[in-house]
Amino acid sequence: MDLFFLGTGAGMPAKLRNVTSIALKLLEERGAIWLFDCGEATQHQILHTSIKPRRIEKIFITHLHGDHLYGLPGLLSSRSFQGGESEVTIYGPKGIKEYIHLSLSISQSYLKYPINVIEIEEGIIFEDDQFIVEAGLLDHGIPSYGYRVVEKDKPGTLLAEKLKAAGVKPGPIFKKIKNGERVVLEDGRVIEPEEFLGPPQRGRIVTILGDTRVCENALKLAKNADILVHEATFSKGEEHLAFKYFHSTTKQAAEIALQADCKKLCLTHISSRYERNAWQELVQEAAETFPNTLIAEDFKEIHIPSK
Ligand SMILES: [Zn+2]
Ligand SMILES: [Zn+2]
Repeated sequence: MDLFFLGTGAGMPAKLRNVTSIALKLLEERGAIWLFDCGEATQHQILHTSIKPRRIEKIFITHLHGDHLYGLPGLLSSRSFQGGESEVTIYGPKGIKEYIHLSLSISQSYLKYPINVIEIEEGIIFEDDQFIVEAGLLDHGIPSYGYRVVEKDKPGTLLAEKLKAAGVKPGPIFKKIKNGERVVLEDGRVIEPEEFLGPPQRGRIVTILGDTRVCENALKLAKNADILVHEATFSKGEEHLAFKYFHSTTKQAAEIALQADCKKLCLTHISSRYERNAWQELVQEAAETFPNTLIAEDFKEIHIPSK
């Protein structure tokens, strides 16, 4: 599981930072990529990476501001020509359906694969046997969502030698125990799975927030996250501006990470007012409050290790 930053700038594209898009690479987990936001030229950014658009399974749009959205019709259209045949599910606030429908139909773009567009509300928006995704409304002038991706815990590894020593022969029973099922042997003995499994592998939590002021829901969505991706449009000391424009500062992002007991904080949505030589200073401002902070850069990849 890795986070790959395709665009990390605020508002409009800049030379060093394109507008927002983040790929959550779940290649080992499910052979898929989940995209969070799709600012203009996201598909151009992808050309410089090993990401295959046909692998994109889900796209989560945080909010409908252009710097998070204008790359979507182009990306969807090109995916048809890049061997994309599998369905793509797109989640986003109310209006996303109309935006996609209108931009594709007016330009007479026909996709060679089905899309499923879901206008979300707060709560659990997706769940399968591997992941749960929860959405919460933030504070940004227009509806802006944060997404909390929770990987489900996996049962521990099977202690096969211990089972053999207990006289259980390998076979379908092993699989049942591995899946956490209680098994009654032919001789009447009961095998409790937890006695023959290693410690469960804890799932990871990744929280990616849309643009926002400091708010209660940011804290809730970020609780115990292995990584929190939080916007930091302004530097410390500019809280009044952040409030006025519905954004956050570096320090405010760090306070959320601290209060939520996150493991790591990644600042993104960085204004082009801050040139490259100021980036480390932005990290420093946050690190005073939350030491394990880093700043996103276009094409930066962050590995999220299993626990
Ligand atoms: Zn933005
Ligand atoms: Zn915005």
